[in-house]
Amino acid sequence: MKVLKFGGTSVGSAAHMRRVADILVREGAGVVVLSAMSGTTDALQRIASFASAGGCDREVALLLAGLKRKYMRCVEELLVGRREEASRAVECALARVASQAASYAGEVSQRVIIAQGELLTTALFTLYLRERGCRAELLHAPAFVHGGEEARVDAVRLRSLAEVVADGGYAVTQGFICSGPDGMIDNLGRGGSDYSAALIGAALGADEVQIWTDIDGMHNNDPRYVEGTFPIRRMHFDEAAELAYFGAKILHPSTIQPCRERGIPVLLKNSMAPDAPGTLISGEEVGGPRYRAVAAKDGITVVRICSARMLMAYGFLRRVFEIFERYRTPIDMIATSEVAVSLTVDSDCRLTEIAAELALLGTVEVETGNSIVCLVGELEHARQGRAREVMEAAGDVPLKMISYGASRRSIALLTDTRYRTRLLRNLNEKLFAGYAE
Ligand code: ASP
Ligand code: MG
Repeated sequence: MKVLKFGGTSVGSAAHMRRVADILVREGAGVVVLSAMSGTTDALQRIASFASAGGCDREVALLLAGLKRKYMRCVEELLVGRREEASRAVECALARVASQAASYAGEVSQRVIIAQGELLTTALFTLYLRERGCRAELLHAPAFVHGGEEARVDAVRLRSLAEVVADGGYAVTQGFICSGPDGMIDNLGRGGSDYSAALIGAALGADEVQIWTDIDGMHNNDPRYVEGTFPIRRMHFDEAAELAYFGAKILHPSTIQPCRERGIPVLLKNSMAPDAPGTLISGEEVGGPRYRAVAAKDGITVVRICSARMLMAYGFLRRVFEIFERYRTPIDMIATSEVAVSLTVDSDCRLTEIAAELALLGTVEVETGNSIVCLVGELEHARQGRAREVMEAAGDVPLKMISYGASRRSIALLTDTRYRTRLLRNLNEKLFAGYAE
């Protein structure tokens, strides 16, 4: 059994939805996980923000009218016999948004509002599949995907879903949305539909999870900053996980984990060019060129703690880490010397409190505006000259931190964001020239 997830641009218009249905017919039966049509979640998020600010009825009404136009147009272009049923679904979802916005009750309302995008795409797409004569069942994801500290899927409830597929049909469900610990509708965070697909795939023991977007798989470098990047045919779970975490936009960073645990391959494909091979991510060693890819993540803050108390002391790092843990702020890179420790975080929201507590341990410096550039490939320390090769390729870019030796597949470099593009280009030029597949 396959799980196929289509992102917002892949279902962004009636024409695109048609193309998705063509792909499904080619791929055969499967579980289909959909995002909201592109732009929808942003619009819904803005409605929720206006509603929470109060007194922004005009802005909310304008955004709602925009959504209505977009969805009604999609209904008209997509459906014939089931057009009325589809229009009712649109009216109903938008009425729910309007009423939650009008009597806004904090986070609960916000969650209901931003859930409507996925609910709508899946409703319309299921009707379309049926109109095309396919057997399609619409499943409500919050009934079996549970969010919270650690997201999980109720595999027993999913069984009915598997039955539809076994019968040669399509089980269509929403990405992103789930039920929260309070039993109310919730979500897995922005971009979370990939993660939904992976969780569902893992719970079903799927043969493959396919993530369909609008680019030809994972590229060896960031096409926004570097010219001449190329898609990578195959990569290992560990490489993909590091790249997704450190900035590759194609995949939500949590996606790989559930599939890696169950050994389920993840295939990244382009719905605009379905014949392109895409990228296959699996637990198999890939071989080939020694460097696989580079990604960059901006918005990184460095925190430096310098303390004479660290000298020959034990338990110092534990005290530092405990402070970050208390404020639920994950740490990415770490470098230590005898009297100082530097670490990086990608969220500044609790940093004032964290810095105040760290100040009790030593002198604290906080520096924003950095980027992590992560290179993955065969970076085993036993291989002579790898570190030198990477450092030489980095060239004249000033590096603030280097993390090498923790993983045999990656090296992470920290630089001021103004040097990020230069670093990506230098690495591309020196380490990837002539490798295009
Ligand atoms: N629609 C959600 C978002 O825009 C989830 C997703 O697309 O993955 O964040
Ligand atoms: Mg996405």
